[in-house]
Amino acid sequence: MNWDDTTDAEAAAERLVGAVADGEDQAVEAALRPKDLGEFIGQEKVREQLDLVLRAARARGATADHVLLSGAPGLGKTTLSMIIAAEMEAPIRITSGPAIQHAGDLAAILSSLQEGEVLFLDEIHRMSRPAEEMLYMAMEDFRVDVIVGKGPGATAIPLELPPFTLVGATTRAGLLPPPLRDRFGFTAHMEFYGPAELERVIHRSAGLLDVGIDPTGAAEIAGRSRGTPRIANRLLRRVRDYAQVKADGLITQEIAAAALAVYEVDARGLDRLDRGVLEALLKLFGGGPVGLSTLAVAVGEERETVEEVAEPFLVREGLLARTPRGRVATPAAWAHLGLTPPRSQGSGNGQQDLFGA
Ligand code: ADP
Repeated sequence: MNWDDTTDAEAAAERLVGAVADGEDQAVEAALRPKDLGEFIGQEKVREQLDLVLRAARARGATADHVLLSGAPGLGKTTLSMIIAAEMEAPIRITSGPAIQHAGDLAAILSSLQEGEVLFLDEIHRMSRPAEEMLYMAMEDFRVDVIVGKGPGATAIPLELPPFTLVGATTRAGLLPPPLRDRFGFTAHMEFYGPAELERVIHRSAGLLDVGIDPTGAAEIAGRSRGTPRIANRLLRRVRDYAQVKADGLITQEIAAAALAVYEVDARGLDRLDRGVLEALLKLFGGGPVGLSTLAVAVGEERETVEEVAEPFLVREGLLARTPRGRVATPAAWAHLGLTPPRSQGSGNGQQDLFGA
């Protein structure tokens, strides 16, 4: 859903630790979504600020300011947009940038909004240029110009819109043109979740799914969830299956670890693809530096899959570094795979000296 090409979409869909929603996620997520700000776990700053924005709008009897949410997939952007609508007691319409190919598509949506409605626009950075320009005017003046006819005879007919709240979501705030960014009254960046917050997400979901789990079990799943509630919920469901089939249903640390070993999600949340990339880098290339294309061939994956699906998490975890000379494993990578780095690597400054640089 959030991926630019099918290779990545396929690679992501097969992954238990992929952050993009798959079909099963979509079916269960509705039941697991927090319904109000009080239920929304973590992201304290965002919650506090949003609470003020919404309370103030309610006190004025006005529509809330437009809100921009940025952050990785699975961190709760869609959930927050629904909470905004619920807190404002307003209906919500959900669409996404790639679904709006023409300005006309956007005009049709905007002109059918009710007063106060929340319009959630996911992947707003992927909207077409003409639609984006139409959105500027709609956000600022609650007005659009509908173009009728073609060529020199074309005329713009202004159309008044009811006041509405746009909630834009993007994985990459940096890709938004400044004029669009500037039209949001409130911008929030969602961070990855810490282990304690993920444990709370897991306990909450386990309660809703009527699954027994003890604190050690929740901690074990949290540690493998890559800072992402969507992944935490998905791992919880797989561990629940295992606990029901192989044990008495209660999720403990041992059960969670054994279940996730079956699914090849390791103690830090790396899956087979991530480990394959790291192993190739360490075992075949002595820790690098090695070029992306060579690394991709070595693991039998597309370049894009390695770069966009595996690497971001490895970089975030401090296991791999992207340098001008190629990919380099960090000392933590050797430690994580239980391998001993070549002697010249002991200094901790990457593989520079290995290759005589
Ligand atoms: P995004 O739109 O950023 O991809 P979603 O809002 O769809 O992410 O969230 C994915 C799932 O993770 C939701 O089903 C929700 O249950 C869960 N989730 C996300 N953030 C939180 C949170 N702060 N507290 C509890 N659950 C959360």
